Amino acid sequence: MYFLVVIIIILFIFITINHKNYPKRKDEINYEYIKNIIINFFIALAFGYYLNTYCKNIFNINNTIKLPNILFHLLIVDALFYWTHRIIHRIPILKQFLHEKHHNVKNLIPIDSLHNSHIEYSLDIFIIHYLPIFFIDISMIEYNISSLIIFIYSIYLHYDINYPLLPGFVTSKYHKKHHEIGGGNYSMFFPIWDDYMNTTIKKKKTNLKKDKKTNLKKDKKTNLKKDKKTNLKKDKKTRQK
Ligand SMILES: [Zn+2]
Ligand SMILES: [Zn+2]
Repeated sequence: MYFLVVIIIILFIFITINHKNYPKRKDEINYEYIKNIIINFFIALAFGYYLNTYCKNIFNINNTIKLPNILFHLLIVDALFYWTHRIIHRIPILKQFLHEKHHNVKNLIPIDSLHNSHIEYSLDIFIIHYLPIFFIDISMIEYNISSLIIFIYSIYLHYDINYPLLPGFVTSKYHKKHHEIGGGNYSMFFPIWDDYMNTTIKKKKTNLKKDKKTNLKKDKKTNLKKDKKTNLKKDKKTRQK
C-alpha cells in the first residue's frame, strides 16, 4: 500500500515536471498549491482506507469482478457529477465557495485534477462516489477499480492533449473547453448528459478569439463615436462663449 502511494506521488511529480504547460505554470506551483494537492490526495486515500476497512458490509459479499457492475457505477457517478457540477456552476455563491479554486488556473496540467477546495473534494467523494454504493449491487473490488478509473480519467481530462482516450467518451479537449470557455461541457465520462440537456460547448477557441476581437473593435468604434460627440459639444460651447 505505502509502496503504491510512493509510486503514485513520484509518477505525479514526473508527469507534471515534463508536461508541456509546466514552464507556463512553474511560478504558480508554490507551497500553497502543493499543500492543497497533497491534502486532497490524502483525503481520497483516507476515504478509500475507511471504506475498505470499516464499511465492508455495504458492498456485495461476492468479491467477483463483473464489468457491467463497474460500468453501472461509472454511469451513476457520471450522472451525479454532471448535475452537481452544473448546479454549482449555476449558483454563484456555490461556485465561489466550492469550485472557484478549480477554475482559477490557466494552461492545465494533469495535477490540476486534484486542485480543488478540500470541502468540494470531500463532498465529491461522499456524494458522487460513496452514496451510489447503497443503491447498486457492487463488490468492494469493483468499487476500487471504478474509483481508480475515475482517478486516472480525471488526470487525463486535465492533461491538455488532443487525443481521445476511449472513443465516444469525454476527451481532454472537451474538458479544456469547460475551463477556457465555460457555460457547458459538465460531463466527466460520457457526453450523454451534455448532449441531452443541450449544454455542449460548440464554440471553438478561435471563434472565441474572433468574438473578443470583434467586441473590442465594436467597443473602440462606440468609444470613438462618444469622443466625437463630446468634442462636438465642447466646440459648440466654446463657440457660444
Ligand atoms: Zn467546473
Ligand atoms: Zn477541471
